[in-house]
Amino acid sequence: MKIHEYQAKELFQKYGVPTPRGKAAFSVDEAKKIAAELGNFPVVVKAQIHAGGRGKGGGVKLAKNAAEVNQYASSILGMTLVTHQTGPEGRLVKKLLVEEGLPIEKELYLSVLPDRGTAKIVFMASEAGGMDIEEVAAKTPEKIIKVYIDPLLGMKGYHANELAFGLNLSGDLAKQFSAMATKLYKLCVETDASLVEINPLILTKDGRVIALDGKINFDDNAMYRHKDIAEYRDLDEEDPAEVEASKYELNYIKMPSGNIGNMVNGAGLAMATMDIIQLAGATPANFLDVGGGASAEQVENGFRIILSDPSVKGVLINIFGGILRCDRLANGVVEAAKKVGIKIPVVIRMEGTNVEEGREILAKSGLNLITAKDISDAAQKIAEIAKR
Ligand code: GDP
Ligand code: MN
Repeated sequence: MKIHEYQAKELFQKYGVPTPRGKAAFSVDEAKKIAAELGNFPVVVKAQIHAGGRGKGGGVKLAKNAAEVNQYASSILGMTLVTHQTGPEGRLVKKLLVEEGLPIEKELYLSVLPDRGTAKIVFMASEAGGMDIEEVAAKTPEKIIKVYIDPLLGMKGYHANELAFGLNLSGDLAKQFSAMATKLYKLCVETDASLVEINPLILTKDGRVIALDGKINFDDNAMYRHKDIAEYRDLDEEDPAEVEASKYELNYIKMPSGNIGNMVNGAGLAMATMDIIQLAGATPANFLDVGGGASAEQVENGFRIILSDPSVKGVLINIFGGILRCDRLANGVVEAAKKVGIKIPVVIRMEGTNVEEGREILAKSGLNLITAKDISDAAQKIAEIAKR
């Protein structure tokens, strides 16, 4: 789960990580009011969307006076912000963060996240922080330092010192930084975050270390034990079909630019099926794992969600019947097809438990479903449909 910068900063404050003073605004009037409360200029007006690269896309502006606050808040609220992370369609801005503008001496990069490879918590830090960190990572990866922490032992003073040293910090700045890194470690572990990122972490001209930006992603599977964080979820920022799918505990992910819908049981088989669709010359429009123990109702909902995507020109259903028996799948598909009405070709490949019963249900349904004898046959058939 992703959250907004203003929400990440609320969590930072809760953990004692210094941030600029500021507040979220949902209208231009509110933005002006917050700017007035902050008391002096410059004030930063920032688009709140679940994507980075806002600065380069024109979603972060420094206002020198009240008139500029008005101007920037009006232009950013309601704009479709396109950044390298939003894709070409961009994202509609519905919220702002209005903050005190700070005098920046230096922009650093700092993140903390679980590292699957080592089963440790890793800090990544760089002196070359700011808006071009992706380029730094690609061209000069040696400028990014990493410090690994065994979660069973926890974060110690020497971890923080190693980071501070790597960032060329000394004296009071190093002290402030170390205290902050220790708090971020705590936040990351306690909230089940999958990423805590601050870019830039700034050194101000008056010698303070402050989180100027904030991004936190959480492990969805842990949200049941963080009800307060789960409340931060913003459905406006999610794909409507994915929101709908999550209601039925379906693992659905929309793929941009594909036109072949697919429904599969098991994440591994679903990924392999997407590869096979691609290999046959078509492009998958989604990932959908209905799970091993899907009910007929879940199959029905999954099918309905795939069909609601206007870019889908054909559907491939690939089921290996195990716990999810083929007859149950067939019933789900038939029910859904009757309710939703299918106007596009559907190719089905089934194998495994109760496959004969499943085939019979499909055959007797009177629906125009194309059965494939095996997976490569299914892929060929769906690719031909895509080419039409
Ligand atoms: P992002 O582009 O989506 O990552 O948004 P950021 O929050 O990182 O802001 C982008 C850039 O705006 C930062 O790297 C800063 O250079 C600039 N910026 C943001 N807030 C301030 C501020 O308070 N003072 C100054 N001088 N620059 C700021
Ligand atoms: Mn940033």
